[in-house]
Amino acid sequence: MTYAFRYMLLIAAALPAGAQPKFDRAVQSFQDTWRQAFAGARQSFPLPRLVAYRGKHTGRCGSMGANAAFCPADNTIYYDQIFFEEVRREVAARTRTDGDYAPIAILGHELGHAVAHHLQPGATLHQRLSYRVNGTKHEAMADCLSGAATGTASRQGILDNTDYTEALAVLDLAGSPFVLEPTLRDQIAKHAGDHPTSGNRVESFRKGYTQGPAACGDLVRRIAQ
Ligand SMILES: [Zn+2]
Repeated sequence: MTYAFRYMLLIAAALPAGAQPKFDRAVQSFQDTWRQAFAGARQSFPLPRLVAYRGKHTGRCGSMGANAAFCPADNTIYYDQIFFEEVRREVAARTRTDGDYAPIAILGHELGHAVAHHLQPGATLHQRLSYRVNGTKHEAMADCLSGAATGTASRQGILDNTDYTEALAVLDLAGSPFVLEPTLRDQIAKHAGDHPTSGNRVESFRKGYTQGPAACGDLVRRIAQ
């Protein structure tokens, strides 16, 4: 089964009907962006699998609730569809948009973790798993890479004119735990535990968006010539 086909099955029903085509196109664009960047540096990028779940999931990296995460142990991005829909709704309310880019920006961030992971072939699994060691640096890089991939998708005409605002809003949301209703706040705090503050997150994303992946750190510069 081709990757694309398997992927389509996995994310079916992830979002309301209207948002799904953009989600699919954007993720495809992100994957192409990184595959081509690695290929340009004569490296291969093993595309992470995407696995959607609803509410709860237990895999190689432990159990997950309302969250999205890249698991290096099985090169898979797991994400909760219910969480994505709640984040979309929250961003929609805050920005008076449809919010459909909010989950895509999160997925772009997790894909950024995958990119960083595959650029460190010498690291042990333990080093790769312990995001806390270099937590903030890794997170800033993932935000920057999400911004860079978003910039490319934007030039490809995949985005509409509120999507950039929606991406910044979701980063702002993830970095600021004080103004949300309690359940969503807890959910986002779980993901944001090791993440920088909202201002820094927005800044990292913006840097990648405007300057491309070469601005996202020494590690990435190798594939961003
Ligand atoms: Zn992260």
